[in-house]
Amino acid sequence: MASHVETVRVAPPADLLKGQTALVTGANSGIGKGTALALGRAGADVVVNYVSDREAAEQVVDEITSYGVRAVACEADVSQESQVAAMIDRTVREFGTLDILVANAGMQRDAKVTDMTLAQWQKVLDVNLTGQFLCAREAVKEFRRRGVVPEVSRAAGKIICMSSVHQLIPWAGHVNYATSKGGVQMMMQTLAQELAPEKIRVNAVAPGAIRTPINRSAWETASAREDLLRLIPYDRIGDPEDIAHAVVLLASDLMDYVVGTTLYVDGGMTLFPGFATGG
Ligand code: NAD
Repeated sequence: MASHVETVRVAPPADLLKGQTALVTGANSGIGKGTALALGRAGADVVVNYVSDREAAEQVVDEITSYGVRAVACEADVSQESQVAAMIDRTVREFGTLDILVANAGMQRDAKVTDMTLAQWQKVLDVNLTGQFLCAREAVKEFRRRGVVPEVSRAAGKIICMSSVHQLIPWAGHVNYATSKGGVQMMMQTLAQELAPEKIRVNAVAPGAIRTPINRSAWETASAREDLLRLIPYDRIGDPEDIAHAVVLLASDLMDYVVGTTLYVDGGMTLFPGFATGG
């Protein structure tokens, strides 16, 4: 008998999000791509946002349409107000409405504090925090216009903010990124409080270490992987699908009573693993 545990592939039910339209920002790479594919597999039509590399976005679209649902690629920089508004308008034109927003687009521009330029600070805040605000604001206008359609979902709309364990864990050398994610947490909770009476559910997913291009240096070499695994009690680096499945569930009516929560999907990274043997 094999001494290792085989990976069991699991998938959400194919009709879980049937008849719903989802928009995923930064959906041509990493977690956004995995999430767009999983939403499509769960029956949603999907808008695949990208800011560069149209070809990668079109590949995601092709894969999603092969599941028998609709998908389009839509270029927009989430930090630009007019581009975000145009993206939501196009979503409504193409698919009639919007039911699910996954505000996922994000970036890092790392530097120690005295080396960090104002441009590096500002860019990360603009994309990671202001970008999520702009997308949420425009999505809410459409959710409000349409209201609840009971045959489709119990909620008038769902927003899932892509946060990070660094909304909780300080991260030296990444003050712009960690600050942006701390901001995402409070933005998410405040929007959830403000919008819940309108049956708009706002939640967040906080990934731990997921194997994507954003953190390649943390998993590319054997020694980097070893260092990283010391921070993960569950002893594996996450895959985009781990996050995608959390998003699909949060977006579905299975989680209809979940409002203003951050779901940590991190293999236990936020359990202070250094204290497992000391403290
Ligand atoms: P990634 O680099 O593969 O994906 C980021 C995506 O955001 C890309 O598609 C990129 O083009 C897009 N993007 C960047 N700036 C944009 C802009 N102005 N407008 C539109 N799109 C833009 O990295 P990823 O790991 O998939 O990151 C996705 C999200 O997950 C980010 O918010 C990141 O902070 C978060 N996250 C990732 C990890 C991880 O370990 N990979 C951990 C915690 C949180």
